[in-house]
This record gives sequence, structure tokens and C-alpha cells, in this order.
Amino acid sequence: MIIVSDPIVVASPSDARAAFPLLAHDPGLHYLDNAATSQLCAAALDALVRHETTCRANVLRGTHRLAEAADAAYREARAAVARFLGGVSADEIVFTSGATASLNLLAHSLGATLAEGDEVLVSVAEHHSNLVPWFMLRERRGIVLRVLPVTAGGRIDLARLPQAMGPRLRLIALTHCSNVTGAVTALAPLVAAAKAAGALVALDGAQAVQHGPVDVRALGVDFYAFSGHKCFGPNGVGVLWGRREVLERMPPFLGGGGMVDRVELTGASWAAPPRRFEAGTPPIAQAVGLGAALDWMTELPWAAIRAREARLTRRLIDGLEPLPGVRILGPRDDAARAPIVSFDVEGVHPHDLVQVLDERDVAVRGGHHCARPLMAALGVEACTRASLALYNDEADVDALIEALAHALRLLR
Ligand code: PMP
Repeated sequence: MIIVSDPIVVASPSDARAAFPLLAHDPGLHYLDNAATSQLCAAALDALVRHETTCRANVLRGTHRLAEAADAAYREARAAVARFLGGVSADEIVFTSGATASLNLLAHSLGATLAEGDEVLVSVAEHHSNLVPWFMLRERRGIVLRVLPVTAGGRIDLARLPQAMGPRLRLIALTHCSNVTGAVTALAPLVAAAKAAGALVALDGAQAVQHGPVDVRALGVDFYAFSGHKCFGPNGVGVLWGRREVLERMPPFLGGGGMVDRVELTGASWAAPPRRFEAGTPPIAQAVGLGAALDWMTELPWAAIRAREARLTRRLIDGLEPLPGVRILGPRDDAARAPIVSFDVEGVHPHDLVQVLDERDVAVRGGHHCARPLMAALGVEACTRASLALYNDEADVDALIEALAHALRLLR
């Protein structure tokens, strides 16, 4: 079956809901777990189905008609990602299986250019995906890992930047937006400090991309990692963008077909980026679906969507704060934040809470959110997180608050 959707103008959350087949089929669902995975937009689903039914073939290898069509679709997907990231060169886009794979690639390939004693700076607010690969690099190459703390308000503490930057700083690798608190990292001072120290800056953009296109050149960073499934695209695909000059200096991470220039039994030489970093058959249809999702996103009225997301976040915080025993973790202000709000409920385990909310068709996430050092800094083992996307509306927020009030009566 080929699903053909009309172009949808997303003027309101209900228009947006109609652009998401799962939500259109489940009108009663209050889906507030977008930071874990967003729903798949019709544009991406259509592109996936169209690709698999009209030009499924391997890429960058074949010369028959289907192979050429698949090559063109894969090339176009790379171009769509490049447009979404502010019009960078398509050669700077490496397809991976997701943000985790992108960050591991970076830690391996850039890591191979670092020497013992070189420093990488991360923060307490990182997802494990932007911590553990650096721990592993520390084991392999003896790098020094420095860590920026967070403030009591849950933001990366920039006042501690001077002490955190050692004499051999080579890379600052930070989250663009916290998956727990929604805090958006203030990049200008970080990028300026990195440039002054001759260090590179890598951003984990997994949580930022869902909230609009990102101009990586304007941010002044060198690398940007994200996953398709968190920006209305398919899962199994992700991106590492890197500045061409830096990518060219990096050796490959995985070896295999497609990433070589010449192979003899004595050794091999590497293809130029991005192919150097795409060993084996890539996630082709997923990349095509991601390209369609990002093209769809690029056309949306982001100023209006962001304003709506901010209004809903305020409504959510205002609804949560008066509830007995509820403590919001991270910033409560409206400045520089994504619509992600985590909270602790005294005496109630997040998993019990999630179950009671689920009985009322409210989907949120409970747990440590793969950010254990941040949990420890915030003084909790686990918490409950509500994360909004462009298809959420007042009814979703109000349903969460009402269900939570009910859960508190039941569980406390
Ligand atoms: N970084 C952040 C900030 C995230 O929220 C996530 C996903 N929860 C990841 C990285 C990892 O993404 P993935 O599991 O898609 O590789």
C-alpha cells in the first residue's frame, strides 16, 4: 500500500496531529514522550514506502536502473540534511544509525587523533551517549576527561568554564539541549572560549532537532550529532555533521565495503568523507525517510511553533508547581529551554506514576533517562519527564495535570 498524504500546513496542533498517522489513528492519546522518540510524520512514512516499493537497491555500488535510483535518493537525503543544518555541504553529512553511533564515531575517529594527556571537556548534564564513549576513549588513549558541573537550577555552569579548561583542551563535547531538564546550552561563551583555546566543539543535538532547523555554522560548532527518530523521521538512522577540514583529518571508525579507496592484501587507503565513515550498507530507506522529514520540517512556521511550545511549557510548569510533593527539576523559567519538563514526586516512584498516567492515556517517561550523573546532581535516583512536540496542545498538558492530581490521590 502506498500512502499518499496531502501537503499539510501546520497552522495548529490539530493540523500537525493530522500529519502524523499514529496520532491521527489514536485521537485520545496524549503523547508526551517526544524526548524518547517523536512520532513519524506522514511525509517520512510516504517517502519510506515509496523508496522501498520503487527503488530499493544497494547504494554507491551498482550501475543498473534501480541502483542508480537508490543512489539518487540517498544523495538527495544527504542534501536534505545539509539544508536542515543551515545549508552546509552535503559532503559533511555522515549517515549513522543514530546519535549514539554518531558520538561513538566521533570519539573513535577524532579520538584517534588525540594523544595521552589531551583533554576533552563534557558536562554533568550529558546523556550517557555523550559520556560513555569518552570514558572508553580515556581507557584506550589516556585522554583527560574534564567535567563542567550544573548549577542548582540545572543548567551547565558556565561560571566554572575557566577552571574546567585545562592547558591541553582539544574538544568541548556538550549537549545542545538536556534530555532531562530541557535546558538549552548557552553556546556563545563556550564557542568563544573553545576558539581562543584552539579546541573543537561538538554538540549532541539529539533533543534540539525536534524543535526546528539548526544552523550549525551560525552556532560556530565543528560537529553536530542527532537521531532521525527524534525529529519525526524513522529510527535506525542518525547523522554526524562535521566541518570538512576536520572530517578529512579523521581516520575511519569501522572498516568494510564502501569506505575504501584502494585495497590490497598489504593494506588499504580511505575514501574521502563522508563515505570514509559509512562502512557497509547504510540505512538507505531510513535516510530517505529522514530527508523527507527534515524537508517537511524546514517548511514549517517555526517562530509560531516555538512560541506555542513555550506557552504550553509555561502552562505545564504552572500546573505542576502547586501539586503537593511535586518538585520540578531544572529551570522553571522560560528562557533558553526546550519543552521538556522533569519532576520528582515525593514518596512516589516514577514507574508507578507512569503506569497510572498511562491508564488515563497520558504517555510520559519515568526513569534515570540515561543521565545518571545529572540525576545525582539533581538529588534523585529517577524522575518523571513530560516532553512536548509540535502536535501537542492544551488538552495534552491539562490531561497530564489532571491525571497527575488523580495519581497523587491514589499513590501518596
Ligand atoms: N543524546 C541525548 C541528549 C538523548 O536524549 C538521546 C536519546 N535519549 C541520545 C543522545 C541517544 O539517542 P539514540 O538513542 O537515538 O542514539
